[in-house]
Amino acid sequence: MKKHMLLIAALSLSLSACSFDQWTNQEEPNVSASSSSSKKEVEEKAEPALNSEEKQSDDSETEKQQSETNKEQKGKDGLIVVNDPKSAQVVVNKQRKLPDGYIPPDLTIPEVPFYFDEDLPKKQLREEAAKMLEEMFASAKKEGIEIVAASGYRSYERQKKIYEGYVAEYGEEKANTFSAKPGTSEHQTGLAMDVTSAKMSFQLDQSFRQTEEGEWLANHAHEYGFVIRYPKGKDDITGYTYEPWHLRYVGKDIATEIHSQSSTLEEFFGFQPAGD
Ligand SMILES: [Zn+2]
Repeated sequence: MKKHMLLIAALSLSLSACSFDQWTNQEEPNVSASSSSSKKEVEEKAEPALNSEEKQSDDSETEKQQSETNKEQKGKDGLIVVNDPKSAQVVVNKQRKLPDGYIPPDLTIPEVPFYFDEDLPKKQLREEAAKMLEEMFASAKKEGIEIVAASGYRSYERQKKIYEGYVAEYGEEKANTFSAKPGTSEHQTGLAMDVTSAKMSFQLDQSFRQTEEGEWLANHAHEYGFVIRYPKGKDDITGYTYEPWHLRYVGKDIATEIHSQSSTLEEFFGFQPAGD
């Protein structure tokens, strides 16, 4: 791909949580911006403010999370440093980052099909998430659904390199519009996996939702503790456009609740909207 084409494509992906790694790694499937949710749709969206009554009725887990949140500190860059990076319920977004250099414990390679053979670090997930991913893939297969894993864990160092490369080339302001700052990618938690299919030519594209694989994941991922982390029309809450391929492990109970409420992690835990 020519450089100017790459820039145009990268900029049009301004909010894609998964994009930067794809664009900088030849082995990655391309993220297509062709079906990005329109700005109009975002603007027409209802007020993203969180419902305070709903917040009050949240369970004790939320109270726990909120009291932990009180102890969280802002870093020099103005971002909140999460104090529970190892929790399966950790919320990382454009306002909430992992501690510098954080490496998740118990990273392992799940035994599921990937679209590439090499044992690259991005095959990894944390143990519990990996086990549940295996269960989910097995159930899907039984129903004739052939899903393929694309990208899981991404290290702080790798992210830093990618981000700094963009800053050097385009300047910080521009780089921030299409590349996540190191520490703010959910892939660094070891709890996120991008999923695609042969039918999608292993690309990460919003049209995945219209395939039977995307449909199956939207309806069943929560049964295995995963949520579609960046749902359609929630851009201003999550900070990212719709990504039907990006699965985040949070545990079955919370995933089921978020699924049934068509909610997000930010809303569920009562965090501020993370959009720009
Ligand atoms: Zn992703």
